[in-house]
Amino acid sequence: MVEMDKIVSLCKRRGFIFQSSEIYGGTGSCWDYGPLGVELKNNVKRAWWRDCVQNRGDMVGLDASILMHPRVWKASGHLDHFTDPMVDCKACKGRFRADKLEDARCPQKPSKQPGQHDACDLTEARMFNLMFKTFMGPVEDDAAVAYLRPETAQGIFVNFENVQQSMRLKLPFGIAQIGKSFRNEITPGNFTFRTREFEQMEIEFFVMPGTDEDWHQRWLDERFAWYSKYGIRKENLRLREHEKDELAHYAKRTADIEYLFPMGWSELEGIANRTDFDLKQHAQFSGKTLEYFDEESKQKVVPFVIEPSAGADRGALAFLVDAYGEDEVKGEKRVVLNFHPELAPIKIAVLPLLKKNPRIVETAHKLCADLRKRWHSVYDDTASIGRLYRRQDEVGTPFCVTVDVQTVGDDKSAADDRVTIRDRDNMQQIRVPLASLATVMEKLMDGEWAEIHRQHGVTRG
Ligand code: ATP
Repeated sequence: MVEMDKIVSLCKRRGFIFQSSEIYGGTGSCWDYGPLGVELKNNVKRAWWRDCVQNRGDMVGLDASILMHPRVWKASGHLDHFTDPMVDCKACKGRFRADKLEDARCPQKPSKQPGQHDACDLTEARMFNLMFKTFMGPVEDDAAVAYLRPETAQGIFVNFENVQQSMRLKLPFGIAQIGKSFRNEITPGNFTFRTREFEQMEIEFFVMPGTDEDWHQRWLDERFAWYSKYGIRKENLRLREHEKDELAHYAKRTADIEYLFPMGWSELEGIANRTDFDLKQHAQFSGKTLEYFDEESKQKVVPFVIEPSAGADRGALAFLVDAYGEDEVKGEKRVVLNFHPELAPIKIAVLPLLKKNPRIVETAHKLCADLRKRWHSVYDDTASIGRLYRRQDEVGTPFCVTVDVQTVGDDKSAADDRVTIRDRDNMQQIRVPLASLATVMEKLMDGEWAEIHRQHGVTRG
């Protein structure tokens, strides 16, 4: 397993993720996605939306606001229960999550768990609410208090009736949302794994009471399979059931999909059976009836809810970590990110073999402009071909296309109108006619390298 430091430094060096406000010394636990990071995270979100919303007949989307009526958080239980136990150290003035002391490090040297140095003087644990507070409007008094949402889920529950009625939805159906959430975490860390501002990809799936356990299992299976579909190795994924005493106040059963991050097994996505808790709470606190009329039984029911709740940042980090590899090519170390083509920030790099030949350069530019209409493609002529390949391997570009003298022809020979495609993973090359490049690329993006091989043959290994 790769160390997190290697991932952090690759991310900075190659424009994936930067420390927020770095020129001012950085802001703790806040990160900015650079040009390649934003592509990766967008691709993760796009794949999720396509598979969870677009490709299903039983899901619709929503984009609710971050600031909501403060009563929402009373009804949901967040004001009273969304707390973590916190301890202070009177010696070093550090603050730690009491239930995660084993993950924390005391600032005193040598590095140890808080409480393990003789000088450590930890207080009793006290509960700390994780919601960020702010004020709506110009007056900062109690009546103006608002909260930054700590989860996107509540935006879905309060819109249950709007969505169900406007779209005439029948149970079972789901509402999906991607958006920012905020938690004033006591001990953020492990790069983008635990931050105070992050993006969630959440589904609230409404079902008839009695069918909830079955639907819960279906979503567990489906979400687990999703991560492997986009390349995460099965041995690095596992399902962990919550113990009874660990269950959230609203949950009948919860299981987490965990990933083997560099710091150990940690939650990637939580999948909970939230029962009818939220709809009932909001009905009680708002005075509106949030029910569903079942045509078959002619009865009103409060649906049960299955909630697959994933993090876009944690997802992107897991895909990055899992894709990282090092090997040796011709005696030199090669760093490679073997992203699934759907997730790769750059899909194709177009490289001219001789940048002093104007016909090669012109053809390569034109080719790149054409490919760009379909796939995120870049042109690069700033180094030798070997170095250009390494650079693309390091950011996970699945295919490089090179234009050479044979492509455009010269005094001695006519143009063959063919280009070379080089595969990131096996480093093999095939030569294909320019005219069929788009069709070939389409197949390659679908993982048909072996098939394309048979048709075009390998030119160089
Ligand atoms: P943890 O136990 O790690 O604090 P949680 O159980 O509180 O997580 P949920 O409330 O289930 O997390 O949130 C759903 C998903 O949102 C998580 O699986 C994770 O992917 C993401 N998430 C939650 N908190 C954070 C955070 N502080 N930083 C980044 N992602 C987060």
